[in-house]
Amino acid sequence: MTATSVDATNHQRIASLGERVLNGDHITRAEALFLINLEATADILDLLSWSNRIREKYKGNKIHLCSIVNAKAGSCSENCSFCAQSAHYQTGSPKYGFVDPEPVQAAADEAKQNSVTAVGLVAAWKGLTEGPLLDEICDRVRELKATGKARPDVSLGIIKKQSIADRLKEAGVECYGHNLESSRRFFPQTCSTHTYDDRLETIGYLKKAGIKICSGGIIGMGETREDRCDLAFELKAIGANVVPINILNPIPGTPFENKPRLPVMEILKTIAVFRFILPRQEIMIAGGRTMNLRDAQSMIFMAGASALMVGNYLTTLNQPVEKDLQMLKDLGLDPDWDNHGFSDQQENGCGCSSETCDREPVVTK
Ligand code: SF4
Repeated sequence: MTATSVDATNHQRIASLGERVLNGDHITRAEALFLINLEATADILDLLSWSNRIREKYKGNKIHLCSIVNAKAGSCSENCSFCAQSAHYQTGSPKYGFVDPEPVQAAADEAKQNSVTAVGLVAAWKGLTEGPLLDEICDRVRELKATGKARPDVSLGIIKKQSIADRLKEAGVECYGHNLESSRRFFPQTCSTHTYDDRLETIGYLKKAGIKICSGGIIGMGETREDRCDLAFELKAIGANVVPINILNPIPGTPFENKPRLPVMEILKTIAVFRFILPRQEIMIAGGRTMNLRDAQSMIFMAGASALMVGNYLTTLNQPVEKDLQMLKDLGLDPDWDNHGFSDQQENGCGCSSETCDREPVVTK
């Protein structure tokens, strides 16, 4: 039997960083890199015990549930190397045009029945321009909002005009999903048909319109641990409200089809470090959860996750929502179905919550 060595220095340093975050302070990039480079299982479990405390302090026992409707599938002009819906690759993924009212209504009914907070309409295309399609989307959003059964969210790609973001807000969009995918440094290895700055510009228009931001990324694409930390700090800088962490599910036919899977402890450690960097945000575990975490899925909450994508993903299957609800119940957690406005995320401009903070607000690039 091999004995596990416990490094007392690491133990103390993790505890001191955890206490600092619990007291409303925030950690530096160097400190985040120390955490994400922990290797021993004993140290990682130590880290998880603190990320769990941080989640409990800011989120209690509430878990934010979201679901999505694939409103327009396949044939996307972009070449994101992880994506089954890109027209650049042969993946066998379905292709159809913009969705009719009925599936959206059905998704709202199902959301209400399962205590799911939000239904997101997701479209596979580069972005949204003014015209009949924008009118149609606004109609679907109004219809979804009128049901009163779920928060109407959308994820509709790149926006190039403030007026489009304003129209969406007017129709009732409360939160817009737009991932940064990875660090600025690694992004060009995932896509060459649009830029990181295109994505940041879109987020700028949405924030100006008063729309909340759901933005995160994908881990396991070949990026470094440093890239993962930098993504989390970038998301802090843009003031993301919900931070989805997707774990790459390599799709045959895409350039990333042969990427090796991340070890489970590496995934849990990454979630924990995100919780240290983003103590108040909804950290949501989204695509690739069941495939990559298997029996360790319930550990995501100890790692600091406070939100879950339930129901099927865009191109892959998830476990049944009943199983997710049972998992929450077994852990003493409750769906946070009525927190639509992210009122628990109020903090100082720099991202901390200290009452005596006098730091300058974080400026988005
Ligand atoms: S991730 Fe979005 S933009 Fe990129 S190829 Fe897929 S659908 Fe298109």
